[in-house]
Amino acid sequence: MKVLIGILLTTLWSSPAMAATILHCGRLVDVRAGRVLTDMTIVVDGSAIRAVEKGLTDGNAGDRVIDLRGNTCMPGLIDMHVHLTNEFSAATYLERFQLNPTDYAFRSVQFAERTLLAGFTTVRDLGGASNVNVSLRNAVNSGLIIGPRIYTSGRSLATTGGHADPTNGMRIDLVENPTPEDGVINGPEDALRAVRQRYKDGVDWIKITATGGVLSVAASGQNSQFTEDEIRAIVEIAKDYGFRVAAHAHGAEGLKRAVRAGVASIEHGTYLDQESIELMKRHGTYYVPTIMAGKWVAEKSQIDGFFPEVVRGKAAEIGPLIQNAFERAYRAGVKIAFGTDTGVSAHGNNAREFKYMVEGGMSPLEAIRSATLEAATLLGMPDQLGVIEVGMFADIVAVPQDPTQDITAMERISFVMKDGVVYKQPGQ
Ligand SMILES: [Zn+2]
Repeated sequence: MKVLIGILLTTLWSSPAMAATILHCGRLVDVRAGRVLTDMTIVVDGSAIRAVEKGLTDGNAGDRVIDLRGNTCMPGLIDMHVHLTNEFSAATYLERFQLNPTDYAFRSVQFAERTLLAGFTTVRDLGGASNVNVSLRNAVNSGLIIGPRIYTSGRSLATTGGHADPTNGMRIDLVENPTPEDGVINGPEDALRAVRQRYKDGVDWIKITATGGVLSVAASGQNSQFTEDEIRAIVEIAKDYGFRVAAHAHGAEGLKRAVRAGVASIEHGTYLDQESIELMKRHGTYYVPTIMAGKWVAEKSQIDGFFPEVVRGKAAEIGPLIQNAFERAYRAGVKIAFGTDTGVSAHGNNAREFKYMVEGGMSPLEAIRSATLEAATLLGMPDQLGVIEVGMFADIVAVPQDPTQDITAMERISFVMKDGVVYKQPGQ
């Protein structure tokens, strides 16, 4: 018996070190320093980055070398606002009466894969029905399906008739009034119940709809829908569970209440004014613009019958304004993290947002930084994600050519690695 154990240990100890994966990058975006380096080698060992070296160096015999010399490498992209269990179409409103959670679950498998292959190795999912997004995250984490790292809020929180009240516009005999457990609260006491239910559901974030929104079947796209006390109660109780809060807000008043109450990020921010900007800077609140969702709803509002009439007017009015809100926030120095609201537009097109950010005044390098280092910081993970440095998670993507010269290169992802596993290579 002793001999057998001895042989076993010798075999383990004498086996060669696990082969590394070596990436030869023609260019590498150093998002921390804000520069592009040429001819860099990244050594990946298991799921972590082991070395980042100047020059194209070879590793040990048995290491796998991936040639990305014609490409620009950068940290895996992070989208801070997606809805992985939906993809909007003219049929969406009717489908709420036709589809079961399992239908959304099967669809979300494909949406997750498309997102990853578009270079987004991490996403924050901000709301979906029936906690399908929580199950999706678990399926990705356990290796059952392919997708990005998902941090999800489960169901969004709203007030009665608010943007994320799941029964808006439905015939009253078909539905019962939703409870805090369903995500609808009225008053600080309900807020405690709602957040604790999210904890029980297994979420990572809390999402609230602080104002009206475009796609809900309700009159206003921007009115305030929570009292400041309600938001404060949510933020406070969320802390007990290690959650931070993301607030959907179009109107300035609801936005300011959310910032004063201590949310971590404002989503959309369409009507933000000077006071909003100053408040966000003072509180260190992140802004997640979602310009492409605005463009998408504005475009669809031109099509007769695509939206219910009550939605159509809001889409035409609010949609075109978001890019300008982004410009104002950027120029004023508000912290910006990349987010698209994908699930409004089609999954896999997330990188289109980069072009709109650059049109709005950001440099390509700053736009890439917002989708890497800034987003990782908002996630609370700047020591694991968002930069290519020793010890970080091996989430690395590449695009052909140089995105700092042509930002639309971001829409042509040529290489995707997540957690040290390669999902896409040039020529595939
Ligand atoms: Zn959204």
